[in-house]
Amino acid sequence: MAAAHDTTTAPEVVLLMGPPGAGKGTQASLLAEERGLTKLSTGDMLRDHVRRGTPLGERAQAIMESGELVPDDVIVGMVRATMQAAPAVRFLLDGFPRTPAQAASLDALLDELGARITAAVALEVDDDELVQRLVQRAHEEGRSDDNEDTVRNRMEVYRRQTQPLLDYYAGHGALKRVDGLGDVDTVTGRIREVLP
Ligand code: ADP
Repeated sequence: MAAAHDTTTAPEVVLLMGPPGAGKGTQASLLAEERGLTKLSTGDMLRDHVRRGTPLGERAQAIMESGELVPDDVIVGMVRATMQAAPAVRFLLDGFPRTPAQAASLDALLDELGARITAAVALEVDDDELVQRLVQRAHEEGRSDDNEDTVRNRMEVYRRQTQPLLDYYAGHGALKRVDGLGDVDTVTGRIREVLP
């Protein structure tokens, strides 16, 4: 099927945005597979550094456990290296960009690579549901930043630093708001509908 449309190297950059617990990671994996995109999750990359005990991981661990953001230059350096090394600019970005500075760096990087943002999908879920999901995830996965204090701070950080980016992408005509309530397949279907 992919060969018939010859889309395998055409640039495609889909952003998956939304508050902690909105389901970005799950949907990112499904959609990346379906569209032949590489999932690039800055949270996963950071957790991998922490697990391997790299200098970056040692620096990031305490920040992540407090629910604050890892400095922009660290994140941008990580994303830039991954994108520049890839054979094609076909990515599904999960959890990046998260600040206006990261968004500006992404624009510059995509300019260099001759690509642009295909769509910025914002998964919308109300706060009560988010808290419930994160508490559940804490039980199931034991992620060290899913305890109540950190969760509350991550939500606050999201509202303050990341939510303004939605206006930025709306201004560029790239924003697609999607209801994130419902089972996984239902939400995947809604995202599929808004993607070109
Ligand atoms: P969630 O969105 O559910 O909080 P993530 O796995 O995306 O989970 O992120 C976990 C933590 O990793 C964040 O709270 C933050 O400390 C760090 N992090 C991930 N992505 C970024 C980013 N783009 N910029 C800064 N920090 C990040």
